[in-house]
Amino acid sequence: MRERNIVAFADALLHLPYRYIDLRERHIVANLQAGMDAVIEGRLEGLNVRPRRYGNFRSASSARLVDSNNRRIKIVWFNLPAYAQFPAGEPVLLCGKVTRAADGTLEIVHPEVHRMAGGDVPPIRAVYSLPEEVPQRLFASVVNEALAKLDAPAGRDTGLEFGGIPVEIIQEGAAMPAVEALRYLHRPPTDANIEQLDNADTPAHRALALDEMFVFQLALCRERARSRRRSGAAIAGPGRLTEAFGASLPFAPTGAQLRAIDEIAIDLAAPTQMNRLLIGDVGSGKTLVAFWAALRAAEAGYQTAMMAPTELLAEQHYRSFEKLCGRLGLMSTLLTGNSTGNERARTLRAIERGDFAIVFGTQALIQEGVRMRKLGLAVIDEQHRFGVFDRARLIALGSQANVLLMTATPIPRSLAQTLFRNLKVSALDEVPPGRMPITTEIFSERATDEVDEIVRGEIAKGHRAYYVLPLIDSTEGGAGEEDGDERASVIAMAKRLNVALQGSRVGTLHGRMRPADKERAMREFRDGALDVLVSTTVVEVGIDVPEATVMVIVAADRYGMAQLHQLRGRVGRGPAVSRCCLMLSNRARGPALERLAVLARSADGAEVAQADLRLRGPGDLFGTRQTGALPLRFAHIIRDWRIIETAADLAERWLERDPGLDTAASAGARSALKRISDSGFSLGDIG
Ligand code: ADP
Ligand code: MG
Repeated sequence: MRERNIVAFADALLHLPYRYIDLRERHIVANLQAGMDAVIEGRLEGLNVRPRRYGNFRSASSARLVDSNNRRIKIVWFNLPAYAQFPAGEPVLLCGKVTRAADGTLEIVHPEVHRMAGGDVPPIRAVYSLPEEVPQRLFASVVNEALAKLDAPAGRDTGLEFGGIPVEIIQEGAAMPAVEALRYLHRPPTDANIEQLDNADTPAHRALALDEMFVFQLALCRERARSRRRSGAAIAGPGRLTEAFGASLPFAPTGAQLRAIDEIAIDLAAPTQMNRLLIGDVGSGKTLVAFWAALRAAEAGYQTAMMAPTELLAEQHYRSFEKLCGRLGLMSTLLTGNSTGNERARTLRAIERGDFAIVFGTQALIQEGVRMRKLGLAVIDEQHRFGVFDRARLIALGSQANVLLMTATPIPRSLAQTLFRNLKVSALDEVPPGRMPITTEIFSERATDEVDEIVRGEIAKGHRAYYVLPLIDSTEGGAGEEDGDERASVIAMAKRLNVALQGSRVGTLHGRMRPADKERAMREFRDGALDVLVSTTVVEVGIDVPEATVMVIVAADRYGMAQLHQLRGRVGRGPAVSRCCLMLSNRARGPALERLAVLARSADGAEVAQADLRLRGPGDLFGTRQTGALPLRFAHIIRDWRIIETAADLAERWLERDPGLDTAASAGARSALKRISDSGFSLGDIG
């Protein structure tokens, strides 16, 4: 029980407010407007409790607040218990959202009421983002209790520990203690700046980010030291295959590709394990670099395993390898969830014998029974899609395996390098030449004809189109999910397009189809037997069909910017100008529209990521999602890059002083590291 309470208290303290109300700034009733957070001093009068049914409510009670100018506003409570405590006539501070009642008058529903006499009015009130069932006040009381525990006399073990930065560093002035920062953010003092609090831009926020990053970096630095010592296959082949590959390419590699190839060659040649992250926006040509590395391994007698997050993508890799490297006389194979029975057993035996220079696959690669003869290179594409354990398992297929991780996460190389100190980073910061920019436009939900016309025009030119929809069929999704808009489903859209785009060949693709059918649809679209592919977001990851020039995203406001950018990256892959049509749902609102406007303006992944950060605002750690499962709560990988650098330096310096983290000063760091590893996160495999 104690354990559980402690976890609850710690969680409450770590759940920071997402906005603040300034209780020092008082309003008067005459100036209230619907929608504002009102803070009014006055007296309550005329309590009227009516036990009555109001829909789901048992009772509705009302009263009036009289302000200093003798103006009144109605206050309403639903479902409140008896009003024995009602402070009638006493001076109170009332705080709540102003709404417009059905009869047009203003009222305040469920306000907070603070007694002035008790002197219990805080200067600033924290507002938390909470599930509907949890009232602000209940949560605030849990936070209060947790804060009181933090005040327990020194030496008494409350079980509540925060902060991984050693006291020595804090004393040197490099940081504010985490406990102090938490207290500040839950109960801001009188002199705190509301705007900075709301923007998550206070010294306390930075202190928490620094603390978190410090621990993260400690783990990475230790891991890096370990992996430097780990041996890896030294691969410096005769160059026969790689040279033939270079000579046979239908295009010249970009400068960025050549640089990445050189960097990888040096890593591979060393007798230690390669740990390299290749970052490059969608379409920058990461696959080619991976193939080159695989050939390098093959010419030295080693095998490569290349893992992709979906069957479609794994198959695509397999096919493009056959296409680009087929004449080099190497054997390759594909292992996915589709491979079963005897066929699978045969493939597994051949893999174990070392028949295949390169094995492509999905998670099936890391399932029981797969053994590689001499794995020299493990490539993980779209690595942010995989859990750390998946990555670790793939790498474990060969004790000498060199590791190449690939991702389209739009962060600059220098930042990636700082963040992932256990990896070396190569960046494809150059798009292959001849790419035409993608025009992105926003359409209303009703602009179907206009969008159809665009698609028709492209098909007439021999090009292909994607439609992406949020639902498979319109019976999906419970109440509230429904758009009331049958076009938002794959099935309904395909049916409509069969009529609207008469003469065109329309296919569908979604997660409920049988694997063989999915593959067929994809193949037909790729080979031109289909003109239009109507799909869910399964096409999001890495699919490469250069003839596709239109991407129509229906209900685009439902997706995040990173996902839209990925989807848009499915077109613009050939020599023709491509278009992306973002269609709004009938529920598109302000912030979503702003996000789409950014996409319409910019095709640059890094720029989109920056805007995403700005638009989502502080408190939303989207960045952690995008980089894969980083266990970060406070630090934001883009906004806090300076903090990340400081943390990395502090961590490195601290490890020089206390390499084993076994002194008393490192106790906080030790338990913070333990918390991370208890949560199932293996820092050794971050990337
Ligand atoms: P991503 O980095 O998104 O994985 P891909 O590796 O799928 O990108 O490459 C996208 C497309 O660009 C493929 O069709 C690929 O053949 C092509 N491509 C790769 N490198 C070049 C290049 N140097 N010049 C022209 N086309 C290239
Ligand atoms: Mg790719």
